[in-house]
Amino acid sequence: MSPKKIRKERIVVKVGTSTITNENGGLDIHQIDLLCRALSSIENLGYDLVLVSSGAIAVGAGKMRLAQKPKDLRLKQAAASVGQCELMHLYDKLFGEYGRLVGQILLDNDDVENPVRRENLQNTFDALLENHIIPIVNENDSVSHVEIESDQKLFSDNDMLSAIVAVFTGACKLIILSDIDGLYDKNPANNKDAKLISRVEKISDDIYALAEGSGSNRGTGGMITKLQAAELATSRGVDVLIINGKNMDNLYDIIDKKHVGTLFVAKE
Ligand code: GLU
Repeated sequence: MSPKKIRKERIVVKVGTSTITNENGGLDIHQIDLLCRALSSIENLGYDLVLVSSGAIAVGAGKMRLAQKPKDLRLKQAAASVGQCELMHLYDKLFGEYGRLVGQILLDNDDVENPVRRENLQNTFDALLENHIIPIVNENDSVSHVEIESDQKLFSDNDMLSAIVAVFTGACKLIILSDIDGLYDKNPANNKDAKLISRVEKISDDIYALAEGSGSNRGTGGMITKLQAAELATSRGVDVLIINGKNMDNLYDIIDKKHVGTLFVAKE
């Protein structure tokens, strides 16, 4: 994957299932509204934004009234197909209320690995961004069964997908909204004295050792996949921030250059 020239006005924001859904798998409309409002406001300052959003499978499962998030591939794909419509309907409506246009991009492995498809994809991103349209990206879950099922999945929790999109678009920053404030020196769920690490210069084995399993049963990603994504993005010149998505004001703070979450510093 060839890195593009880094554009200091381009920012990719990744939101996970647990940030935008409630315990029942329904959409947390209040949170999504705050997200759309913050991103629209940031766009008005002259930034170009790309949103990588998960949530399709959980929302589809909720809408289909399935008792739990499906495990069977066929049902997962059906749920993704139903949920993606619902997600985009809401993003289109809410961003529209703040005067923004959105476009949907669904990706699978081949789009990233095949050079011709990759170039087309980069052109599409550029055309959308140059026209001030916010691309909203997800994995093409209803089609890309390899990634949903495989242990070697490339980006089915969307953390790695967001890093790839950040490199593709020449973004200067990738902001990953999580259900935790950032990377801690111990697991904060079991250790009251755990301290937030505010800056990481190098994602070494010691840093990986700090990350433990997934925090929520609605999304699939944990801190490990976020570190892998951060490692890829920082190696291509993209700063990565992991922040808590429960407080959308964190997004304004980043633009105001206040310190929030954990910053993984881009390599030259
Ligand atoms: N692409 C999946 C979705 O939109 C991601 C699932 C997850 O949150 O890990 O449902």
